[in-house]
Amino acid sequence: MNDNLTADRPSFVTHLECSMTGERYDADMLHGLSRVGRPLLVRYDLDAVGAALSRDALSTRPTDLWRWRELLPVRHTRDIVSLGEIETPMVPIPVSGGANVLVKDEGRLPTGSFKARGLVMAVAMAKELGVTRIAMPTNGNAGAALAAYASRCGIETIVFCPEDTPEINVREIAMQGARVWRVNGLIDDCGAIVGKGATEGRWFDFSTLKEPYRIEGKKTMGLELAAQFGWDLPDAIFYPTGGGTGLIGMWKAFDELEKLGWISSKRPRMYAVQASGCAPIVRAFEAGEEHAERWEDAHTIAMGIRVPRAVGDFLILRAVRESGGKALGVGDPAILKAVEDCARRDGLLLCPEGGATLAAYREALRTGEVDEDERVVLFNCATGLKYPMPPSPQTLDRHAPIDFDAL
Ligand SMILES: *Cc1c(COP(=O)(O)O)cnc(C)c1O
Repeated sequence: MNDNLTADRPSFVTHLECSMTGERYDADMLHGLSRVGRPLLVRYDLDAVGAALSRDALSTRPTDLWRWRELLPVRHTRDIVSLGEIETPMVPIPVSGGANVLVKDEGRLPTGSFKARGLVMAVAMAKELGVTRIAMPTNGNAGAALAAYASRCGIETIVFCPEDTPEINVREIAMQGARVWRVNGLIDDCGAIVGKGATEGRWFDFSTLKEPYRIEGKKTMGLELAAQFGWDLPDAIFYPTGGGTGLIGMWKAFDELEKLGWISSKRPRMYAVQASGCAPIVRAFEAGEEHAERWEDAHTIAMGIRVPRAVGDFLILRAVRESGGKALGVGDPAILKAVEDCARRDGLLLCPEGGATLAAYREALRTGEVDEDERVVLFNCATGLKYPMPPSPQTLDRHAPIDFDAL
Protein backbone atom coordinates (compact mmCIF):
# COMPACT_ATOMS: atom_id res chain seq x y z
CA MET A 1 0.00 0.00 0.00
CA ASN A 2 1.28 3.45 -0.89
CA ASP A 3 1.83 5.52 2.31
CA ASN A 4 1.09 8.68 0.36
CA LEU A 5 -2.50 7.46 0.20
CA THR A 6 -2.85 6.00 3.68
CA ALA A 7 -1.16 8.78 5.66
CA ASP A 8 -3.23 11.23 7.67
CA ARG A 9 -3.89 14.34 5.67
CA PRO A 10 -4.73 17.56 7.43
CA SER A 11 -6.07 20.02 4.86
CA PHE A 12 -4.31 23.34 4.59
CA VAL A 13 -6.98 24.91 2.38
CA THR A 14 -8.21 28.21 3.77
CA HIS A 15 -10.68 29.34 1.10
CA LEU A 16 -11.39 29.72 -2.61
CA GLU A 17 -10.85 32.99 -4.40
CA CYS A 18 -12.25 34.47 -7.64
CA SER A 19 -9.38 34.71 -10.13
CA MET A 20 -10.81 37.99 -11.46
CA THR A 21 -12.08 39.93 -8.43
CA GLY A 22 -10.37 38.21 -5.48
CA GLU A 23 -13.74 37.63 -3.78
CA ARG A 24 -13.55 34.86 -1.14
CA TYR A 25 -15.64 31.67 -1.12
CA ASP A 26 -16.09 28.95 1.50
CA ALA A 27 -13.93 25.92 0.67
CA ASP A 28 -16.29 23.34 2.15
CA MET A 29 -19.10 23.98 -0.31
CA LEU A 30 -19.68 22.90 -3.87
CA HIS A 31 -18.80 25.69 -6.31
CA GLY A 32 -18.69 26.19 -10.06
CA LEU A 33 -17.52 29.53 -11.43
CA SER A 34 -17.39 32.68 -9.31
CA ARG A 35 -20.25 35.19 -9.25
CA VAL A 36 -18.66 37.06 -12.20
CA GLY A 37 -18.37 33.83 -14.19
CA ARG A 38 -14.64 33.26 -13.81
CA PRO A 39 -12.54 30.38 -12.40
CA LEU A 40 -12.08 29.95 -8.64
CA LEU A 41 -8.59 29.36 -7.26
CA VAL A 42 -7.83 27.30 -4.13
CA ARG A 43 -5.80 29.09 -1.45
CA TYR A 44 -3.73 27.41 1.29
CA ASP A 45 -2.20 28.40 4.59
CA LEU A 46 1.32 28.15 3.19
CA ASP A 47 2.99 29.10 6.48
CA ALA A 48 1.35 26.08 8.08
CA VAL A 49 2.32 23.87 5.12
CA GLY A 50 5.92 25.05 5.51
CA ALA A 51 5.85 24.23 9.22
CA ALA A 52 4.40 20.75 8.59
CA LEU A 53 6.53 19.71 5.63
CA SER A 54 10.11 20.26 4.52
CA ARG A 55 11.75 19.58 1.18
CA ASP A 56 13.80 16.87 2.88
CA ALA A 57 10.74 15.12 4.32
CA LEU A 58 9.14 15.27 0.91
CA SER A 59 12.13 13.56 -0.69
CA THR A 60 11.61 10.44 1.46
CA ARG A 61 8.08 9.86 0.16
CA PRO A 62 7.10 7.74 -2.85
CA THR A 63 7.28 10.05 -5.87
CA ASP A 64 3.65 9.86 -7.04
CA LEU A 65 1.16 12.71 -7.23
CA TRP A 66 -0.02 12.23 -3.63
CA ARG A 67 3.39 13.06 -2.18
CA TRP A 68 2.22 16.68 -2.60
CA ARG A 69 -0.84 16.13 -0.39
CA GLU A 70 -0.26 19.20 1.85
CA LEU A 71 -0.54 21.35 -1.28
CA LEU A 72 -3.68 19.57 -2.51
CA PRO A 73 -7.33 20.11 -1.55
CA VAL A 74 -8.54 16.57 -0.67
CA ARG A 75 -9.36 16.31 3.05
CA HIS A 76 -10.19 12.66 3.57
CA THR A 77 -8.01 9.78 2.46
CA ARG A 78 -11.12 7.69 1.83
CA ASP A 79 -12.14 10.14 -0.92
CA ILE A 80 -9.06 9.50 -3.02
CA VAL A 81 -9.83 7.34 -6.02
CA SER A 82 -6.39 6.41 -7.31
CA LEU A 83 -5.45 4.50 -10.45
CA GLY A 84 -1.71 4.95 -9.87
CA GLU A 85 -0.79 8.57 -10.65
CA ILE A 86 2.97 8.24 -11.08
CA GLU A 87 5.54 10.98 -11.39
CA THR A 88 6.14 11.18 -15.14
CA PRO A 89 9.64 10.84 -16.56
CA MET A 90 11.57 13.51 -18.43
CA VAL A 91 12.90 11.95 -21.60
CA PRO A 92 15.78 13.54 -23.54
CA ILE A 93 15.27 13.85 -27.32
CA PRO A 94 18.79 14.79 -28.37
CA VAL A 95 18.36 14.23 -32.11
CA SER A 96 14.96 15.69 -32.95
CA GLY A 97 15.05 18.29 -30.16
CA GLY A 98 18.57 19.01 -28.92
CA ALA A 99 21.06 18.39 -26.14
CA ASN A 100 19.13 20.41 -23.55
CA VAL A 101 15.59 19.40 -24.45
CA LEU A 102 13.54 17.14 -22.19
CA VAL A 103 10.06 15.82 -22.90
CA LYS A 104 7.88 15.45 -19.82
CA ASP A 105 5.99 12.38 -20.94
CA GLU A 106 2.50 12.58 -19.52
CA GLY A 107 1.32 9.71 -21.69
CA ARG A 108 2.40 7.35 -18.88
CA LEU A 109 -0.43 8.43 -16.60
CA PRO A 110 -3.68 6.46 -16.06
CA THR A 111 -5.97 6.65 -19.14
CA GLY A 112 -2.91 7.66 -21.16
CA SER A 113 -3.04 11.42 -20.70
CA PHE A 114 -2.37 14.19 -18.19
CA LYS A 115 -6.11 14.75 -17.92
CA ALA A 116 -5.79 12.09 -15.19
CA ARG A 117 -4.00 14.62 -12.95
CA GLY A 118 -6.86 17.10 -13.09
CA LEU A 119 -9.68 14.63 -13.00
CA VAL A 120 -8.38 12.48 -10.15
CA MET A 121 -8.47 15.63 -8.01
CA ALA A 122 -11.78 17.00 -9.29
CA VAL A 123 -13.53 13.64 -8.87
CA ALA A 124 -12.15 13.15 -5.35
CA MET A 125 -13.47 16.59 -4.40
CA ALA A 126 -16.84 15.98 -6.09
CA LYS A 127 -17.15 12.79 -4.09
CA GLU A 128 -16.15 14.58 -0.89
CA LEU A 129 -18.80 17.25 -1.56
CA GLY A 130 -21.56 14.72 -2.30
CA VAL A 131 -21.91 14.97 -6.10
CA THR A 132 -23.63 11.94 -7.68
CA ARG A 133 -23.91 12.89 -11.36
CA ILE A 134 -21.40 14.76 -13.54
CA ALA A 135 -21.51 15.96 -17.15
CA MET A 136 -18.62 17.17 -19.28
CA PRO A 137 -17.77 18.41 -22.78
CA THR A 138 -14.53 16.86 -24.08
CA ASN A 139 -12.24 16.49 -27.09
CA GLY A 140 -11.54 12.96 -25.83
CA ASN A 141 -8.90 12.64 -23.13
CA ALA A 142 -10.69 14.53 -20.36
CA GLY A 143 -13.82 12.45 -20.89
CA ALA A 144 -11.79 9.25 -20.64
CA ALA A 145 -10.15 10.32 -17.38
CA LEU A 146 -13.46 11.49 -15.92
CA ALA A 147 -15.18 8.24 -16.87
CA ALA A 148 -12.45 6.12 -15.28
CA TYR A 149 -12.25 7.93 -11.95
CA ALA A 150 -15.98 8.59 -11.59
CA SER A 151 -16.97 5.00 -12.40
CA ARG A 152 -14.44 3.81 -9.87
CA CYS A 153 -16.23 5.67 -7.08
CA GLY A 154 -19.81 5.19 -8.28
CA ILE A 155 -20.48 8.66 -9.72
CA GLU A 156 -22.66 8.68 -12.84
CA THR A 157 -21.19 10.49 -15.90
CA ILE A 158 -22.58 11.87 -19.14
CA VAL A 159 -19.99 12.99 -21.69
CA PHE A 160 -20.47 15.06 -24.87
CA CYS A 161 -17.81 15.21 -27.58
CA PRO A 162 -17.53 16.68 -31.09
CA GLU A 163 -18.67 14.13 -33.68
CA ASP A 164 -15.20 13.89 -35.22
CA THR A 165 -13.54 12.96 -31.90
CA PRO A 166 -11.17 10.02 -32.55
CA GLU A 167 -13.02 6.70 -32.37
CA ILE A 168 -10.63 5.33 -29.75
CA ASN A 169 -11.48 8.18 -27.35
CA VAL A 170 -15.23 7.72 -27.74
CA ARG A 171 -14.88 3.98 -27.14
CA GLU A 172 -12.58 4.26 -24.12
CA ILE A 173 -15.03 6.72 -22.54
CA ALA A 174 -17.93 4.27 -23.08
CA MET A 175 -15.85 1.28 -21.98
CA GLN A 176 -15.00 3.03 -18.71
CA GLY A 177 -18.64 3.40 -17.80
CA ALA A 178 -19.79 6.83 -19.04
CA ARG A 179 -22.76 7.57 -21.30
CA VAL A 180 -21.11 9.28 -24.26
CA TRP A 181 -22.77 11.34 -27.01
CA ARG A 182 -21.28 12.63 -30.29
CA VAL A 183 -22.50 16.15 -30.98
CA ASN A 184 -22.50 17.93 -34.36
CA GLY A 185 -20.42 20.86 -33.14
CA LEU A 186 -17.17 21.84 -31.39
CA ILE A 187 -16.24 21.49 -27.72
CA ASP A 188 -17.84 24.79 -26.72
CA ASP A 189 -21.09 23.71 -28.42
CA CYS A 190 -20.93 20.57 -26.25
CA GLY A 191 -20.23 22.83 -23.28
CA ALA A 192 -23.44 24.77 -23.94
CA ILE A 193 -25.46 21.52 -23.60
CA VAL A 194 -23.67 20.68 -20.34
CA GLY A 195 -24.33 24.20 -19.05
CA LYS A 196 -28.03 24.02 -19.88
CA GLY A 197 -28.44 20.68 -18.07
CA ALA A 198 -26.53 22.03 -15.06
CA THR A 199 -28.81 25.09 -14.87
CA GLU A 200 -31.78 22.73 -14.81
CA GLY A 201 -30.18 20.84 -11.90
CA ARG A 202 -29.65 17.63 -13.87
CA TRP A 203 -25.94 17.26 -13.14
CA PHE A 204 -22.78 19.02 -11.94
CA ASP A 205 -20.83 20.86 -14.69
CA PHE A 206 -17.26 19.54 -15.03
CA SER A 207 -16.18 21.74 -17.97
CA THR A 208 -12.54 22.91 -17.94
CA LEU A 209 -12.00 25.49 -15.15
CA LYS A 210 -15.74 25.56 -14.31
CA GLU A 211 -14.99 23.70 -11.10
CA PRO A 212 -12.01 24.70 -8.94
CA TYR A 213 -10.06 21.48 -8.49
CA ARG A 214 -8.76 20.41 -11.88
CA ILE A 215 -6.22 23.24 -11.68
CA GLU A 216 -4.98 21.80 -8.39
CA GLY A 217 -4.41 18.40 -10.00
CA LYS A 218 -2.65 19.93 -13.01
CA LYS A 219 -0.58 22.06 -10.65
CA THR A 220 1.34 18.92 -9.71
CA MET A 221 3.14 19.15 -13.08
CA GLY A 222 4.82 22.31 -11.83
CA LEU A 223 5.58 20.80 -8.42
CA GLU A 224 7.10 17.72 -10.04
CA LEU A 225 9.19 19.76 -12.44
CA ALA A 226 10.65 21.75 -9.56
CA ALA A 227 11.63 18.58 -7.69
CA GLN A 228 12.95 16.87 -10.83
CA PHE A 229 15.13 19.92 -11.62
CA GLY A 230 16.54 20.01 -8.08
CA TRP A 231 14.47 23.12 -7.17
CA ASP A 232 16.00 25.20 -9.94
CA LEU A 233 13.38 25.54 -12.67
CA PRO A 234 14.21 25.18 -16.39
CA ASP A 235 14.65 28.22 -18.63
CA ALA A 236 11.61 27.61 -20.83
CA ILE A 237 8.47 25.46 -20.89
CA PHE A 238 6.49 24.74 -24.06
CA TYR A 239 2.90 23.81 -23.23
CA PRO A 240 0.19 22.81 -25.74
CA THR A 241 -2.63 25.10 -24.74
CA GLY A 242 -6.33 24.42 -25.09
CA GLY A 243 -8.24 25.45 -21.97
CA GLY A 244 -4.87 26.25 -20.40
CA THR A 245 -5.45 24.41 -17.11
CA GLY A 246 -1.92 23.06 -17.03
CA LEU A 247 -0.21 26.34 -17.77
CA ILE A 248 -2.30 28.18 -15.19
CA GLY A 249 -1.74 25.34 -12.71
CA MET A 250 2.04 25.30 -13.12
CA TRP A 251 2.21 29.07 -12.74
CA LYS A 252 0.25 28.74 -9.49
CA ALA A 253 2.55 25.91 -8.33
CA PHE A 254 5.67 28.04 -8.84
CA ASP A 255 4.10 30.84 -6.85
CA GLU A 256 3.26 28.52 -3.95
CA LEU A 257 6.74 26.96 -3.98
CA GLU A 258 8.36 30.39 -3.85
CA LYS A 259 6.14 31.39 -0.91
CA LEU A 260 7.26 28.20 0.83
CA GLY A 261 10.86 29.26 0.19
CA TRP A 262 11.56 26.08 -1.81
CA ILE A 263 12.44 27.85 -5.07
CA SER A 264 13.76 31.32 -5.91
CA SER A 265 11.84 33.99 -7.80
CA LYS A 266 13.40 32.82 -11.07
CA ARG A 267 10.72 31.53 -13.49
CA PRO A 268 10.77 29.68 -16.78
CA ARG A 269 9.51 31.55 -19.82
CA MET A 270 6.12 29.98 -20.49
CA TYR A 271 5.30 29.35 -24.15
CA ALA A 272 1.62 28.68 -24.83
CA VAL A 273 1.60 26.59 -28.01
CA GLN A 274 -1.51 26.45 -30.21
CA ALA A 275 -2.32 25.06 -33.64
CA SER A 276 -2.49 27.81 -36.25
CA GLY A 277 -5.97 26.51 -37.24
CA CYS A 278 -7.23 27.32 -33.73
CA ALA A 279 -5.12 30.01 -32.07
CA PRO A 280 -7.31 32.39 -30.04
CA ILE A 281 -4.64 32.86 -27.35
CA VAL A 282 -1.92 33.60 -29.92
CA ARG A 283 -4.14 36.20 -31.58
CA ALA A 284 -4.97 37.87 -28.26
CA PHE A 285 -1.31 37.77 -27.17
CA GLU A 286 -0.14 39.44 -30.36
CA ALA A 287 -2.89 42.07 -30.19
CA GLY A 288 -2.00 42.88 -26.57
CA GLU A 289 -5.53 41.95 -25.41
CA GLU A 290 -6.40 40.70 -21.94
CA HIS A 291 -9.12 38.35 -23.19
CA ALA A 292 -9.34 36.15 -26.28
CA GLU A 293 -12.28 36.16 -28.68
CA ARG A 294 -13.79 32.90 -29.96
CA TRP A 295 -11.85 31.42 -32.90
CA GLU A 296 -14.28 30.63 -35.74
CA ASP A 297 -13.96 27.50 -37.95
CA ALA A 298 -11.40 25.89 -35.67
CA HIS A 299 -9.54 23.01 -37.29
CA THR A 300 -6.38 21.04 -36.48
CA ILE A 301 -5.30 17.42 -36.15
CA ALA A 302 -4.25 18.22 -32.57
CA MET A 303 -7.74 17.71 -31.10
CA GLY A 304 -6.66 18.32 -27.49
CA ILE A 305 -5.89 21.95 -28.30
CA ARG A 306 -8.87 22.54 -30.58
CA VAL A 307 -10.51 24.86 -28.07
CA PRO A 308 -12.04 27.95 -29.72
CA ARG A 309 -12.73 29.76 -26.46
CA ALA A 310 -11.25 29.42 -22.94
CA VAL A 311 -12.84 30.81 -19.74
CA GLY A 312 -9.35 31.13 -18.26
CA ASP A 313 -8.03 33.11 -21.26
CA PHE A 314 -6.88 36.07 -19.12
CA LEU A 315 -5.06 33.76 -16.69
CA ILE A 316 -3.15 32.07 -19.54
CA LEU A 317 -2.25 35.42 -21.10
CA ARG A 318 -1.23 36.88 -17.76
CA ALA A 319 1.09 33.95 -16.91
CA VAL A 320 2.68 33.97 -20.38
CA ARG A 321 3.33 37.73 -20.21
CA GLU A 322 4.59 37.77 -16.61
CA SER A 323 7.00 34.96 -17.46
CA GLY A 324 8.48 36.76 -20.46
CA GLY A 325 7.25 33.98 -22.76
CA LYS A 326 4.97 34.09 -25.79
CA ALA A 327 1.97 32.43 -27.38
CA LEU A 328 3.06 30.60 -30.52
CA GLY A 329 1.06 29.04 -33.36
CA VAL A 330 2.25 26.07 -35.44
CA GLY A 331 0.68 24.52 -38.54
CA ASP A 332 -0.46 20.90 -38.87
CA PRO A 333 2.32 19.98 -41.35
CA ALA A 334 4.98 21.11 -38.85
CA ILE A 335 3.20 19.14 -36.10
CA LEU A 336 3.15 15.93 -38.16
CA LYS A 337 6.79 16.40 -39.13
CA ALA A 338 7.81 16.86 -35.49
CA VAL A 339 5.91 13.74 -34.38
CA GLU A 340 7.53 11.72 -37.15
CA ASP A 341 11.07 13.00 -36.48
CA CYS A 342 10.84 12.35 -32.77
CA ALA A 343 9.48 8.82 -33.26
CA ARG A 344 11.91 7.82 -36.02
CA ARG A 345 15.04 9.43 -34.63
CA ASP A 346 14.58 9.45 -30.86
CA GLY A 347 12.19 6.52 -30.48
CA LEU A 348 9.59 8.52 -28.57
CA LEU A 349 6.06 8.52 -30.00
CA LEU A 350 4.48 11.89 -29.18
CA CYS A 351 0.80 12.79 -29.46
CA PRO A 352 0.07 15.56 -32.01
CA GLU A 353 -0.22 18.14 -29.20
CA GLY A 354 3.22 17.05 -27.95
CA GLY A 355 4.45 17.31 -31.55
CA ALA A 356 3.15 20.89 -31.57
CA THR A 357 5.47 21.79 -28.69
CA LEU A 358 8.47 20.32 -30.52
CA ALA A 359 7.51 22.17 -33.70
CA ALA A 360 7.14 25.42 -31.74
CA TYR A 361 10.48 24.87 -30.01
CA ARG A 362 12.24 24.37 -33.34
CA GLU A 363 10.67 27.52 -34.71
CA ALA A 364 11.64 29.45 -31.56
CA LEU A 365 15.20 28.21 -31.96
CA ARG A 366 15.24 29.37 -35.59
CA THR A 367 13.99 32.86 -34.72
CA GLY A 368 16.36 33.22 -31.76
CA GLU A 369 13.52 33.25 -29.22
CA VAL A 370 15.31 30.45 -27.36
CA ASP A 371 18.95 29.51 -27.26
CA GLU A 372 20.37 26.02 -27.86
CA ASP A 373 22.04 25.90 -24.45
CA GLU A 374 18.90 26.82 -22.50
CA ARG A 375 17.23 24.04 -20.51
CA VAL A 376 13.86 23.42 -22.10
CA VAL A 377 10.87 21.22 -21.21
CA LEU A 378 8.30 20.19 -23.80
CA PHE A 379 5.03 18.69 -22.65
CA ASN A 380 3.79 15.50 -24.29
CA CYS A 381 0.32 15.31 -22.82
CA ALA A 382 -0.92 11.94 -24.04
CA THR A 383 0.42 8.68 -25.34
CA GLY A 384 0.99 8.75 -29.10
CA LEU A 385 -0.68 5.34 -29.27
CA LYS A 386 -4.13 6.93 -28.99
CA TYR A 387 -3.75 8.74 -32.32
CA PRO A 388 -3.95 7.68 -35.98
CA MET A 389 -0.61 6.65 -37.48
CA PRO A 390 0.32 6.33 -41.16
CA PRO A 391 -0.47 2.85 -42.57
CA SER A 392 2.35 0.34 -42.95
CA PRO A 393 0.99 -2.11 -45.52
CA GLN A 394 3.97 -4.35 -46.38
CA THR A 395 3.43 -8.12 -46.19
CA LEU A 396 5.68 -11.11 -46.63
CA ASP A 397 4.65 -14.53 -48.07
CA ARG A 398 6.55 -17.12 -46.06
CA HIS A 399 5.84 -19.81 -48.73
CA ALA A 400 7.52 -17.86 -51.56
CA PRO A 401 11.28 -17.30 -51.91
CA ILE A 402 12.35 -14.38 -49.71
CA ASP A 403 14.63 -11.69 -51.09
CA PHE A 404 16.58 -11.00 -47.87
CA ASP A 405 18.54 -8.15 -49.46
CA ALA A 406 15.30 -6.25 -49.99
CA LEU A 407 14.08 -6.45 -46.38
C1 LIG B 1 -6.42 18.58 -22.92
C2 LIG B 1 -5.20 18.41 -23.72
C3 LIG B 1 -4.35 19.49 -23.96
C4 LIG B 1 -4.63 20.89 -23.48
O1 LIG B 1 -4.54 20.99 -22.09
P1 LIG B 1 -5.09 22.28 -21.31
O2 LIG B 1 -4.39 22.27 -20.02
O3 LIG B 1 -6.57 22.10 -21.18
O4 LIG B 1 -4.77 23.47 -22.12
C5 LIG B 1 -3.19 19.24 -24.69
N1 LIG B 1 -2.91 18.02 -25.15
C6 LIG B 1 -3.69 16.95 -24.92
C7 LIG B 1 -3.29 15.61 -25.44
C8 LIG B 1 -4.88 17.10 -24.20
O5 LIG B 1 -5.65 16.03 -23.97
